[in-house]
Amino acid sequence: MRLSLPALCGLALATLTACGTTPPQTQTVEIAFTLRAGTAPVYCGGPFGPLGTPAVTATLRDARLYVQDIALIDTTGTAVPVTLPANDWQQPGVALIDLETGGPDCAGTAATNPVIRGTLPARTYSGLRFTVGVPETLNHTSVEVTPAPLDVVAMNWSWQAGRKFMKVEVTPTGGVTKPDGAKTATWFLHLGSTDCTGNPAQGGAVTCQRPNRLPVTLPAFDPARQAVALDLTALFTGTDLTRDQGGAVGCMSGPTDPDCPAVFGTLGLSLTNGQPVTPGQPPVFRAVDVR
Ligand code: CA
Repeated sequence: MRLSLPALCGLALATLTACGTTPPQTQTVEIAFTLRAGTAPVYCGGPFGPLGTPAVTATLRDARLYVQDIALIDTTGTAVPVTLPANDWQQPGVALIDLETGGPDCAGTAATNPVIRGTLPARTYSGLRFTVGVPETLNHTSVEVTPAPLDVVAMNWSWQAGRKFMKVEVTPTGGVTKPDGAKTATWFLHLGSTDCTGNPAQGGAVTCQRPNRLPVTLPAFDPARQAVALDLTALFTGTDLTRDQGGAVGCMSGPTDPDCPAVFGTLGLSLTNGQPVTPGQPPVFRAVDVR
């Protein structure tokens, strides 16, 4: 994405509008997200895949994530924060990406939000950085009184613990077998801060031993023609979606859940301390051409 200030000024002059001595200070940006299984788009209402180990087809139940610390990277490598105006899907500091399109197989409504909208200084940018998460100061708030997008009950993870940062739920063909042999339908991935102490209802600060916020950097990203793909095939590489080995069904960020090491390893997060273990780019997110 390139925006030349002299070119803009020249355009303004050409339309007989005084350019003045102050060039445009800011530009708008739209950062799109898309849900994929490998290269194929994923929607509610039909099987996709196969994915996981062993490979199995599945239907989508839910795919939503909160995003914070959004920045474009300029040509000198500097990350420049994107300012988020408030709307139904974002407020300053955090945005909710909803890739779940509703329907009989899915958990939510037909409303979606695949786009973050913001502003930042006018400059030439070549990359993108963001973190999957909700800022600490916004995370431990009441879902009942906090403005959108932190008012989504489906993303609430008990008041004290905060929000589910990322929620991916898939229903594998044949279901999920639990350790006692019983069957259940859906395998859940809920990523969020765990082992939190403090009671915000009484004015106390909340501290979480495992933040589980996931930083992502896409060194080459052009929002004018690309989107950020969340790749479920990459996410569940090494995960057996046909069974649950214990704890919550799937992985709900429990440090002792035997299903969490595989998916946390793929995300590049330490299950022990909730910090990223691999600098750089987890394969779960990548830039894809959409225009
Ligand atoms: Ca489990």
